[in-house]
Amino acid sequence: AAKSSGRHTYRFFEPDMDAKVRERRQLEGDLRHAIAQGGREGGLEVYYQPCLGLKDDRITGCEALVRWRHPERGWVSPADFIPIAEDTGLINEIGEWVLATACRDAASWPDDIRLAVNVSPVQFKSGTLALKIMAALATSNLPASRLELEITEAVLIRDDDAALAILHQLRAIGVRIALDDFGTGYSSLSYLHRFPFDKIKIDRCFVEDIARPDGSASIVQAVVNLAAARRMTTTAEGVETEEQQRLLRTLGCSEMQGYLFSAAKPADKMLELFALHRSRRARREGSESRRR
Ligand code: C2E
Ligand code: MG
Ligand code: MG
Ligand code: MG
Repeated sequence: AAKSSGRHTYRFFEPDMDAKVRERRQLEGDLRHAIAQGGREGGLEVYYQPCLGLKDDRITGCEALVRWRHPERGWVSPADFIPIAEDTGLINEIGEWVLATACRDAASWPDDIRLAVNVSPVQFKSGTLALKIMAALATSNLPASRLELEITEAVLIRDDDAALAILHQLRAIGVRIALDDFGTGYSSLSYLHRFPFDKIKIDRCFVEDIARPDGSASIVQAVVNLAAARRMTTTAEGVETEEQQRLLRTLGCSEMQGYLFSAAKPADKMLELFALHRSRRARREGSESRRR
């Protein structure tokens, strides 16, 4: 509206835009400082959100999610600072640090639990992404087969041959590739034949109204069928209710992630969480076999 109604309207909005630009610049400076702090006080942290297998109730993996506790603002959402980091190139440093930290943390987990790490489209442009991933694996001793990279279709948007080559290279050493936020982009289906993904993560917006009459259950069903036909697994994001979980299981979805099972937690809580879940599961199996 500001654009079409001309110069005066635009000038009217200017002070507001100035404030936005200043705010962004401030946050960028603070973010630089936080990156320099690394994992120290006032720096960045990596939290982990577990993923649950819907068939056997086992924890299949955990997703690394970056966290920033700002000294004055408190927690700043990645949804707010990742875009700034992408615009400024800071995402390269953040991404490298998250990857190294997460691989090191995951190396101490049970070896049937995978690590998933989000990779920004910007990181594919640097040309050193594959090397950095190999270095993080080598330093941490985490087997490549336990690492999964989550990418969005933005990576493949311009039929980017360089990005595809990196994905194939990582695939060749055993790293798994997941397509994140599936269904939220422009022409999602067309990206599925550009690369043989291992997993599709069904976006939270489809899970949100899966239980509503005429909701997204049929869409989720279609995605699950499509994935199965192409030997991909499916993970439902943002599962918050028992009913959503039950429906997803009925629809044949492989895994779920969401607050119903667990939010993301700090690294030092993970071993306890794995052990607790294992003992709960064993107890449940025990009582089920007694009933039989
Ligand atoms: P994402 O990769 O799709 O991650 C899922 C987001 O959903 C996370 O938000 C997670 O905390 C949130 N979530 C999980 N379960 C539930 C639920 O049951 N209900 C609701 N309402 N939300 C749930 P978070 O941690 O704020 O991250 C937001 C986005 O920021 C991520 O979306 C990802 O795109 C990006 N991000 C986070 N960490 C990194 C990172 O290390 N590198 C890059 N490049 N991006 C990151
Ligand atoms: Mg993700
Ligand atoms: Mg996602
Ligand atoms: Mg998402």
